[in-house]
Amino acid sequence: MPKICCTCCGAEYPESGLPHVCIKCGGIFDYDRPFQIQRSDLEKHDSTLWQYQKSFGPTYDLPPISLGEGNTPLLLRSFAGEQLAFKMESCNPTGSYKDRGTTVLMTEIASRGIPFVVEDSSGNAGASLATYCSWAGIDCKIFVPESASGNKLNQISRSNAYVQMIPGPRNNATIAVEEAVRNLPAIYASHALQPFLLPGIATIAYELFSTFGQAPGTVIIPVGHGGLFLGIMRGFDALYQQKIISKMPLFIGVQAKGYHSFVSHFDDQKNNDTKNSIDSIAEGVRISIPSRYQQIIRMCETIDCEFVACNNDELYTAINECWKMGLYVEITSALVWAAFRKNNRKYPGPIVFIMTGSGLKY
Ligand SMILES: [Zn+2]
Repeated sequence: MPKICCTCCGAEYPESGLPHVCIKCGGIFDYDRPFQIQRSDLEKHDSTLWQYQKSFGPTYDLPPISLGEGNTPLLLRSFAGEQLAFKMESCNPTGSYKDRGTTVLMTEIASRGIPFVVEDSSGNAGASLATYCSWAGIDCKIFVPESASGNKLNQISRSNAYVQMIPGPRNNATIAVEEAVRNLPAIYASHALQPFLLPGIATIAYELFSTFGQAPGTVIIPVGHGGLFLGIMRGFDALYQQKIISKMPLFIGVQAKGYHSFVSHFDDQKNNDTKNSIDSIAEGVRISIPSRYQQIIRMCETIDCEFVACNNDELYTAINECWKMGLYVEITSALVWAAFRKNNRKYPGPIVFIMTGSGLKY
């Protein structure tokens, strides 16, 4: 089974506690080899992603902290003579793909006997963590930017989580949570850094394989910190390494204009203007420095990847078109459709769009 190690100094992940970064050097933790997925697990038809639990690493002594995540619908739409497939991650229990990672992380937290977690988020990650903590009976404190409002904040505050509003820019909430981890007996269940989220997200790849009986030709994915993109790549990589698929899909990562670090990287640094005069409306991916940046760059050395950035005009058009197709997603999810429409070229089929969050939160 793969081990979790620090990507900088190689230190193994400790057996107690739940550090979000390496205690010795501050490096990011990651798995040291591809996930192990069994063909027999791909043939099961359980109601949750826990049918793939052997690929998550440890065998847990306690039942999973699960609310029924995974097995999301794949909706088909005809467009310009082509059949397109939309993986509706918005149909997870708290309305976003985050639940796939949260269920694995929360089960790890419970198995380590951790009674208290903290997180900084006013979005889908905070809503997911707060809800799962409420279900598991684990205390939870979410640091939220004072400017936050709306249905995601309602989800967090109605879940029994303690919400602490932090004045100033978004990064102040991260500074506050890091200070809390130093001073409280709590662990930082960071949606950007915790390694345990990745095997849960990888199950999207297993489900797509089970539906198509092969890898799709193209998968189009929004990119913020990159956990979703990396997790799906890792899932297909596990299938490829075990010769269950013979070819990897083409991965298209979509960033918001102004936060397009990967686009700049693969554009030979010609397009380095990562500032934008108007902030992106794709709130879920307004990330200047993605946590998974180096891990994704490394995987893209051997796997076909492209990156696209979309501006607000493209997003407004895309969200309207999504809703008119009966794809009721939030605006960050429409990035994938905006990128497809903008590029207007032939991708290898079948083409799958990862629709990350519900429009009912928007
Ligand atoms: Zn280290």
